[in-house]
Amino acid sequence: HVSNVSAESYIYIDEKEIEKTNKQTDVKRALEYSVEHYLVEAYLQPIVKSGSHELIGAEALARIKDLEGNLISPDKFIPIAERNGRINQLGEQVLERVCDFICSQDMKKLGISWINVNLSPIQFMRQDLDKRLLGIIRGKGVDPAYIHLEVTEEAMIDETLLLKQIQNIQSTGFYFVLDDYGKGYSNLSRLKKCPFINVKIDMNIVWEYMSNPDEVLPNMVKTFKKLGFSITAEGIENEEMADAMRDIGCDYLQGFYFSKALTMEQFIDKYS
Ligand code: C2E
Ligand code: MG
Ligand code: MG
Repeated sequence: HVSNVSAESYIYIDEKEIEKTNKQTDVKRALEYSVEHYLVEAYLQPIVKSGSHELIGAEALARIKDLEGNLISPDKFIPIAERNGRINQLGEQVLERVCDFICSQDMKKLGISWINVNLSPIQFMRQDLDKRLLGIIRGKGVDPAYIHLEVTEEAMIDETLLLKQIQNIQSTGFYFVLDDYGKGYSNLSRLKKCPFINVKIDMNIVWEYMSNPDEVLPNMVKTFKKLGFSITAEGIENEEMADAMRDIGCDYLQGFYFSKALTMEQFIDKYS
């Protein structure tokens, strides 16, 4: 009887593994197809002012679809794209879609001052990243000041390379934002060397503060502001969170309480 049970559970695990591998193969295929056929989409999630909840900007979030047309989560395809190098093309397609949006819309009327675009640490490994980004933006005729590039601390592992890259790119007119602060290993002295204009507090830190408020997050926000960074709190899911983050000094808020990421059409419908 005992050996029967273990034989069954062995098969069960095996099937799960196969299913997982199949799913990953599907994601990989969808990724290849989307990149090759120029089908990578950029959804936009609103970012609002903490005091008035007025729209101020948006974050572009990559989306691809599977063969049935269902959306695949970036948490599934970004790690694969980072491993096989597709992230370079994927990231550039997102930037192109954002440029098309900026060109085709009256940004003032929409009330957006900038759009954040995520940059993977892998993209920083290309020496010509500055030229590639500038090539896209110039080709589309967009002012780079509209683009705020989000980088995570992961990208700072090779500090000298990163700083050099950021300085090169920044000198061409782009702005930089630190994404997911507090998610990993956070280093304030390293952060001070980077010319960020804004720090985004990771949603886990925000949620932790809500369930167990202490002085750590408020002091962190104070320190950042003294250093000249504006602050965005991520993962705002209700009014209580929005009020708490405003009260501790965050300038901007992003989260499902305001809106999830929208297609560009939905975004225009909602805000124009
Ligand atoms: P991220 O850059 O930190 O983006 C924020 C993520 O949090 C988005 O997930 C967004 O939908 C989600 N989010 C926003 N508000 C809330 C909320 O109130 N509650 C909850 N539970 N979640 C919220 P998404 O779109 O699934 O993207 C996940 C991650 O994938 C991004 O995290 C980013 O690291 C990566 N990613 C997405 N698009 C790109 C891209 O174009 N390039 C690169 N390199 N990475 C990307
Ligand atoms: Mg981001
Ligand atoms: Mg983030």
